[in-house]
Amino acid sequence: MDVNFKRYGLYLVRWQLSTPILAGVLIVLSTMDALMATIIANLIGGLIFFWVDRFIFTSKVLDAQWEVKDNIACVDCGKVCRGYRLVKTPNYDKTDDKEPEFRCEECSRKKSEELRKRGVKL
Ligand SMILES: [Zn+2]
Repeated sequence: MDVNFKRYGLYLVRWQLSTPILAGVLIVLSTMDALMATIIANLIGGLIFFWVDRFIFTSKVLDAQWEVKDNIACVDCGKVCRGYRLVKTPNYDKTDDKEPEFRCEECSRKKSEELRKRGVKL
């Protein structure tokens, strides 16, 4: 399975954010019946987090996809190690690259900087 770690990270942060919001609502409704208060708190949470979740799962902004492969020779320095390759961002697409270029972590970082300067959204 392909996991987009940016989306996954944001999703975990979003769960943490839902805690104080729901706790706050429950405090405000503390005089109410506990079951009723929980239902209302979840309704409010749902109204807010539907939009947050939709952004997390569908936003193209979070779309940078990387391919990671073990034991490749870095195209820049030749080191054999785990290699990284940027596959796709909103304005960069190497999905069908016939000769995919993998880079070591260090060279990949330099290349990312270079791409960013060229206006690629990472
Ligand atoms: Zn390298």
